[in-house]
This record gives sequence, C-alpha cells and structure tokens, in this order.
Amino acid sequence: MLASAVYKTSLSRCSGLAHLVKCTGSSFFSHRHYSSEAENDLIVIGSGPGGYVAAIKAAQLGMKTVCIEKNATLGGTCLNVGCIPSKALLNNSHLYHLAVGKDLKNRGIEFTDVTLNLDKMMEQKSKAVKGLTGGIAHLFKQNKVTHVSGHGKITGPNEVTAIKEDGSSEVVTAKNILIATGSEVTPFPGIDIDEETVVSSTGALSLKKVPEKMIVIGAGVIGVELGSVWQRLGADVTCVEFLGHVGGLGIDMEVAKNFQRILKKQGLNFKLDTKVVSATRDGSNIKVAIEGVKNGKKEELDCDTLLVCIGRRPYTTNLGLEDVNIQTDNRGRIPVNARFQTSVPSIYAIGDCIQGPMLAHKAEDEGIICVEGMCGGAVHIDYNCVPSVIYTHPEVAWVGKTEEQLKEEGVEYNIGKFPLAANSRAKTIDDTEGFVKVLGHKTTDRILGVHFIGSVAGELINEAVLAMEYGASCEDVARVCHAHPTVSEALREANLMAYSGKPINF
Ligand SMILES: Cc1cc2nc3c(=O)[nH]c(=O)nc-3n(C[C@H](O)[C@H](O)[C@H](O)COP(=O)(O)OP(=O)(O)OC[C@H]3O[C@@H](n4cnc5c(N)ncnc54)[C@H](O)[C@@H]3O)c2cc1C
Repeated sequence: MLASAVYKTSLSRCSGLAHLVKCTGSSFFSHRHYSSEAENDLIVIGSGPGGYVAAIKAAQLGMKTVCIEKNATLGGTCLNVGCIPSKALLNNSHLYHLAVGKDLKNRGIEFTDVTLNLDKMMEQKSKAVKGLTGGIAHLFKQNKVTHVSGHGKITGPNEVTAIKEDGSSEVVTAKNILIATGSEVTPFPGIDIDEETVVSSTGALSLKKVPEKMIVIGAGVIGVELGSVWQRLGADVTCVEFLGHVGGLGIDMEVAKNFQRILKKQGLNFKLDTKVVSATRDGSNIKVAIEGVKNGKKEELDCDTLLVCIGRRPYTTNLGLEDVNIQTDNRGRIPVNARFQTSVPSIYAIGDCIQGPMLAHKAEDEGIICVEGMCGGAVHIDYNCVPSVIYTHPEVAWVGKTEEQLKEEGVEYNIGKFPLAANSRAKTIDDTEGFVKVLGHKTTDRILGVHFIGSVAGELINEAVLAMEYGASCEDVARVCHAHPTVSEALREANLMAYSGKPINF
C-alpha cells in the first residue's frame, strides 16, 4: 500500500503555479488517521462525478481504492438522471424545434414532413447514458479501483458495510473513507410524485408522451432546461417561480431579464413572484393552486403534467453518520473542514452532500483535491471560479461576481458588453441572440465576473474561468489573439471595452 513513490503535478489554485503532489513518505501523511490493519487505503461511498473521479485519482496516486455504489449503474445523478440525459434531450429537442419551425427553412433546408419519434429520441438519450456509465466501469478496471455493489453504511471510523439487494452484507475496511453520496430531489410538501404525471426531474427525463399542458414548479436551472425540452416538443409550458427572476440564485439580473425575454419569445410562459400552494388530481387533470408572493392574488391553473423542480437536498439516508457521531447541519449537509475532513478525521466528504453549489464539476474538483490532500497535496478550491451553465438555447453561463454582488460588496468596476449581433461568427450562422458582459476591477482591471448569453456560452465560459484562475486582467484577454471568425471574439471585444471603453466592432 502506497509503497512505491508516485509523483503527480497539479495546478495549484492558490498560486497559479504547478506544484508537486507526492503520494508517499511519512512526512506527507502526518494528518492521516487510520488503523494499521485496514485492508484498503480508501473507500469511496458513491460513484457520482465526485466519487468516481476521486476513486480513479486515488488509485492513480497509488492508493488501494474501493468504490461502493448502491445503484445498478455507476455515475450517480449526473450520468443517470442529471447532466447527461438532460443534455441529450436538450440537444435533440432543439434540433426538432429548428426543423419544425421556420429556422431550417430560412436556411434553405426544405422538407415536407417532420414527425417526432419520442421513443427514438429517448433511445438516443439512453444510449448516451449507457455508454458513459459503462465507461466508468471500464475506467475502474483500467485504474484498478474495486467496485463493490450495495448500500454503504459507515460502521466504524475505518469500516463500511455494503448492504446488498438480497440482504447479505460485505464489510470493507480502509485507512480513510470518502463520502460522495450526493443529493436527491427535494419533495414539495403535500404533492406526491408518481413519476408518471406528477414528476420530478427524473420522471421528466422519461415521459412517455409529450404533455399538452405542463406546469413546472420552479424556474431555476433544471426547471427552465426541462421546461424548454417539453415546450420545444410541443407542450404548453408554464413555469411558476417564487423568486422574481428566472435562472435560479447566482445569475446576474441583467442576464436573467434578457434570458426570460428570449425564453418567452420561444413560447415558455412564466409566473414569477408566485408560489404554488397545492396540487390536486381530478382524473387526468391536475389543478394547481398558486398565489402571488407580493400581492396575495390567488389563481388556479390546469395541467396534465406537473414537474416539481424546487431543488435538491443532500442524500445521507442510512449512511450511519450518527453511529460515528457526525452531525449534519440545518440543511442536511455534512460539515467539513478546509481539507474536506468531517469531525471524524479518517472520514471525508465532497460533492452535493456538503456545502456549495450542487454541480458535477464542483464535485469532481473536490474529489481530486481531497484525495491529493490525503497524499499531502495542497487543498484549495477557489469557488469564485466555479462556472455555472444553463443549457437552453441560447445557453447562459457565468463565472465570478454579478453586478449585484459587486454593488453589495462596494467594489468599483468597469463593464464591457458586446452583443452577439455584432459578432461575425454569430451573424454568419444566424444565431445572434445574446451578449457577453465582462466586469473588471475599476483600478486594477482584474476580471471579476463574466456573464454570457449565447449559443455556445457553456463552452466559452471556460476561457473566462481560465483567465480568472490565473488572475488575468481584462486587457490580458483583450490582447490574446483569438481565431476569426469565432464567437469567442465577442469575449475579447467585451474585455477590450471593459478596459479601454472602446470595442472595435461595435
Ligand atoms: C436533471 C439534472 C440536470 C443536471 N444538470 C447538470 C449540469 O448540466 N451540470 C452540472 O454541473 N450539474 C448538473 N446537475 C447536478 C449534478 O448532477 C450533481 O451536482 C452531481 O451529480 C453531484 O455529484 P455527486 O458525486 O456529489 O453526487 P451524485 O451524482 O448524486 O452521486 C451520488 C452517488 O452516491 C450513491 N449513493 C448514495 N448513498 C449511497 C450509499 N449509502 N451507498 C452507496 N452508494 C450511495 C448514489 O446512488 C449516487 O450514485 C444536474 C442535476 C439534475 C437532477
């Protein structure tokens, strides 16, 4: 175990410099706490993007690693019922929407009949999910991660019992345990989800027919993504949102307003500042009682499909936390220190079950940094540089601070904004909805936040993340040569405007 020296380099997020992570040598392990008789170095509970990535990284660093997963397939929420299936449906419903509307015809692509084969569309989604979840099984073999099936229950500081479907159990011991059990759908009090007509995001990814009328409770990221899917496929969709804006918490308000206008133009309806009070079934009809948050105005809406999308909560059911004296916080999250260690030093936690944004890439980064930390590496994530993406069309993406946050913090800033209507690539492909907005520090010019609406915003935001990770200024990005014609030139122009006040092409 960890006998041979394994060297890896990794990006140090604090300094922007590469540093050495060396997974051997007693001086690096002064913070480890484990019994010397444990059979393994690490047990990871859960194989979502946090857990499976951590398990592979740990094995690559030379740890004898076991990953326990209760589901039949690996990959967690993200691969099975989250990021992957939703993005498959978003892509294909967008293509259908282009074909069924005037878009393709306006481009000179004419045909007489467009029909939706929903079964086939679902088949493509399932194929993507199967390929990717199967890929993790392959990666586990390749990296020598032992996969144990069963519900993992912590039965000691260095022991997890995997409870199998047939009731049998397998006890696994390790020097360290990493909890990566993720999250589950937050239920709506008084509304029973049957995953047929009253669905969570999971059921909404597998509806058997296109709803006539769909009500989505919540216009956050998942609500607008899945609402868009079914609206593009022909449903009349209304999103009821408690907040006064779409896109969830953390979105820049100027972006949110524009985003709502674009979605509305596409046919998605919104009732903002409105709460759902109850939902009752009347045959195949579902009556949804709503009430204005500000004016108390009561209304009743009808639908045949109700999608409950009010968020997710940490999943720690029957994990045995109480047996090892780990208390969760008031939102059910597992408290951890800066090294992702719980109150039991040999037990760590990452991903959706701890604090922070519930995002796959956040869970992945925590998984990697956490196991590197077990080997003595630096443990630091700049959460200000974790991007958010909404995969509608156009996409919405952002990183860093919003204008509202900067105002609240009293930070003075410059704004650089560039519309996609003035970007040559966007014009060429006739996809000009959206803009790039860059917020730079008034005196230092350091990039503080980047906010994008545009067809490839989810890809382009990573350039902004890289710039921010390296502490770049707006001028830095504006002076980098960008290929032409690309949408990324809009980011360059927005940076140019932020630092000099003068873009070239607008
Ligand atoms: C519809 C939808 C769309 C989404 N889209 C995106 C997106 O586009 N981008 C993005 O970044 N995020 C997206 N997310 C969020 C993303 O899926 C989560 O943030 C991410 O999966 C969290 O990873 P995790 O590893 O912490 O947990 P999870 O992915 O939830 O994995 C936890 C795993 O642990 C297993 N487990 C739990 N308890 C036990 C136990 N006791 N024993 C054994 N196994 C156990 C579970 O079965 C599961 O496989 C989406 C979520 C949903 C629902």
